[in-house]
Amino acid sequence: MACRLANAKSSYDLIVIGGGSGGLACAKEGTTLGSKWGLGGTCVNVGCIPKKLMHQAALLNQSLKDAEAFGWQFDLKSKIIDWQKLRGAVQNHIRSLNWGHRVQLNENVSHLPFSKVDYMNAYGTFIDSHTIQAVGDKKKEVVYGENIVIATGIRPKYPQIPGVEEGITSDDLFCLAHPPGKTLVVGGSCEYQKRWQVPRFSPFRLLPAFISINVALECSGFLSGLGFPVKTMIRSIPLRGFDQLTVEWTDEHGKVFSETFDTLLWAVGREPRLSSMSIDKAGLLCHPKSGKLIVDDWDKTNVENIYAIGDIQHFYLPYPGVHLNHCINGYKFQACPTVENLASSSPSLIVVKSFGRLELTPVAIRSGKLLARRLFGGSKELMDYDRVPTTVFTPVEYSCVGLPEEVAIQKFGESEVEVYHASFMPLEFSVPQRKSEKCYIKVICKRSSPSHVLGVHYCGPNAGEIMQGFAVAMRCNLTVDQLLGTVGIHPTCAEELVKLKVTKRSGKSASVTGC
Ligand code: FAD
Ligand code: NDP
Repeated sequence: MACRLANAKSSYDLIVIGGGSGGLACAKEGTTLGSKWGLGGTCVNVGCIPKKLMHQAALLNQSLKDAEAFGWQFDLKSKIIDWQKLRGAVQNHIRSLNWGHRVQLNENVSHLPFSKVDYMNAYGTFIDSHTIQAVGDKKKEVVYGENIVIATGIRPKYPQIPGVEEGITSDDLFCLAHPPGKTLVVGGSCEYQKRWQVPRFSPFRLLPAFISINVALECSGFLSGLGFPVKTMIRSIPLRGFDQLTVEWTDEHGKVFSETFDTLLWAVGREPRLSSMSIDKAGLLCHPKSGKLIVDDWDKTNVENIYAIGDIQHFYLPYPGVHLNHCINGYKFQACPTVENLASSSPSLIVVKSFGRLELTPVAIRSGKLLARRLFGGSKELMDYDRVPTTVFTPVEYSCVGLPEEVAIQKFGESEVEVYHASFMPLEFSVPQRKSEKCYIKVICKRSSPSHVLGVHYCGPNAGEIMQGFAVAMRCNLTVDQLLGTVGIHPTCAEELVKLKVTKRSGKSASVTGC
């Protein structure tokens, strides 16, 4: 998308490459070039939206089973998912969102500082740091921009093994023409994995470096909920080789297994596709491992007029007061510039810490908006990555905000951290006698007054809906006394959070009994 200010004579004041969550937010706030998808990027076309709708379809299956226990009478044996109908409904909704974004882009212009926003359905590559070649289906254009925002997101990774082409990825799953049938999902960890890093010069903020949430777990969850037999293969089980769709693998004891599947879904992570964008012509640097563009606190890349937001960015923290640009002065770029080969050829490089950002839609949206406000609205507000809530939409959902227990202990010491917890049976699980041990709550707080809450973790129904409010409270520096002094809403799952009384330290049972 290319935007022109009211007083501009020629060219564009802002070019946004990428029409996903981050790029659209940036263009609407203050414009897209790309794939065969409609506007909305990963989230709308192959991510949050189709995933949540299929998750909902799977939850309805569980509800049908529950309904029988509540007295509903119908023939459960003949129940089967009509994949084509589900896929059609999901794809229709996606198209309506694509259209909505398109309309909004035009409508929004009157509120923007721009006199004109041009939407180009084209693939953008760099000619130099101000000039983009936009190649569409029918035409090619060269556009000049004062500022350029790269919001091109990430795409599925494929493992480097024989037979890889037999599999699909989550990008293909939501529009699969036929029911997936018996599916093997490769990727995912045994547990929700969290990696955190503390920037050396940012002692007051503990930034989540990256939370591995796992497309694998979510896809396995809803496919199995829809009634397809699913097997999930995690990294600790090495893949031996592939013969069409008969998969052979060896376990840790060397025992060899073999099984035939209808669908093989690769969910081994996602990665940028920057190599086809000629970023070297603009002098842009990317991280050697993640392949993402390096940015500073202001979302600025190493090139003065180029910014990156959303999944594509990799944060670098240079020494205080030293701008990223100053760190890399004098470096002559190579075809595939990375910070590591830069480091070896430039002794003046001083990069201190680096980590990927949270790959989440609301994070991309907010940082896109804030960037536009800084570029064109005189704002100085930076994105705050602290206490960002998130939810994993597995059959039993998991949501959290703040620190995990291990990180809280690492940061403050065991004696300074109190953990309240409860395992509970949601009322709605009682009649159908669903397993109670599946639902669990953990609240981590400081022990010394004023006992600030450091982390809230909830595993149970409607996790995302419940956590959003607690995330607001956390941003207001919630203390444990305030939490436990709040009157609950009865009978809900959320009230279990304000009824917590058992600490881990006490060693008492965390099981909640009675009403
Ligand atoms: P994207 O949304 O990926 O947008 C990038 C856009 O740039 C795309 O349209 C692409 O075609 C375009 N593009 C790329 N290269 C070029 C080029 N050279 N020229 C022009 N255009 C280009 N997040 C959540 O918060 N909640 C969820 O429940 C959730 N579920 C997810 C489920 C799945 C299966 C996946 C894969 C992701 C999920 N995410 C979820 C993550 C979320 O979708 C991403 O974090 C978010 O979409 C990132 O936005 P973005 O703007 O950075 O990139
Ligand atoms: P992730 O990096 O989160 O997970 C990839 C998984 O694949 C890891 O668990 C990794 O194992 C495993 N893996 C990697 N290589 C192999 C291999 N060769 N064999 C077996 N397993 C392998 O990527 P995702 O694609 O799942 O998610 C991408 C991003 O999208 C996430 O960062 C997340 O933020 C976002 N997302 C958000 C969702 C939400 O908000 N609900 C839902 C889905 C995605 P290991 O653990 O050993 O590294």
